[in-house]
Amino acid sequence: MKIRINVLDKGFVELIDYMGSDLRHVNSARISFDKRKTKIDDKDIKLINYLVKNRHTSPSRHIVFTFHIKAPLVVQQQQIKHRIGSDYTFKDSPENTISGRYVEWEPEFYIPAYFRQQSSNNKQASLDKEIELDKNCPRGFTKTIHMYEDWCNEAYDRYKSLLDIGVAREQARLVLPLSLYTEFYWTASLQAVVHFISLRDDDHAQWEIREYAKAMKSLISPIVPHSTKALFQKK
Ligand SMILES: Cc1cc2nc3c(=O)[nH]c(=O)nc-3n(C[C@H](O)[C@H](O)[C@H](O)COP(=O)(O)OP(=O)(O)OC[C@H]3O[C@@H](n4cnc5c(N)ncnc54)[C@H](O)[C@@H]3O)c2cc1C
Repeated sequence: MKIRINVLDKGFVELIDYMGSDLRHVNSARISFDKRKTKIDDKDIKLINYLVKNRHTSPSRHIVFTFHIKAPLVVQQQQIKHRIGSDYTFKDSPENTISGRYVEWEPEFYIPAYFRQQSSNNKQASLDKEIELDKNCPRGFTKTIHMYEDWCNEAYDRYKSLLDIGVAREQARLVLPLSLYTEFYWTASLQAVVHFISLRDDDHAQWEIREYAKAMKSLISPIVPHSTKALFQKK
């Protein structure tokens, strides 16, 4: 089983731990009949399909995953919106992240392979078409991506300058861009993770977060093949 998948230029999704299996899915449902099985068979697969089809969702919440994710702040900002998803499993939202109040940030920025063009008919979307503005690039740069990288580094230099003159870490970080990489743990039930993947591995979602959703899908599918097959088909 692969436990870490690299995402974007410096990020990753790592499956730290998990609890449960397809068998847990059916046994959680079979408790209604005071029954438990030790080996999965065709009847159980049918039961999983039945549960999913009829939206008996609670048995899928007995399967839980903990991910360690390294992603740019812009991706984390989108991921963190999946609040109830986490609470499907726990009372408090189990997402914990690096705190820029405790530690000094490393100069690690997401550098895209290329810049996409803004979509003209969808305000939130981009086109999978490389922007051709290198010839109009300001400040003597020949490549837009070099200009962008320079601006990220410049922001980091300003951050360090603020720290050097004694500004608190919690305020100095205000100058840093959304391309900065952060790391966080996310623990959520199978139902929540599938919900996240369905929304974010989708054409409407930003390309960058789609890459994270795809990685999560590849990590969980071998663990609960029958449940994921049924749940993704239903979605
Ligand atoms: C393509 C895309 C674009 C987006 N654009 C924006 C944007 O521009 N701005 C922005 O702020 N957000 C945006 N979002 C975030 C979006 O609004 C959701 O907050 C996010 O996708 C989490 O979805 P969720 O609420 O279904 O997930 P979860 O928080 O995991 O909730 C899971 C499910 O629980 C139920 N639920 C959640 N809260 C409640 C409640 N209070 N009462 C009853 N039931 C509840 C719903 O059925 C929900 O689907 C975008 C999301 C996507 C996928």
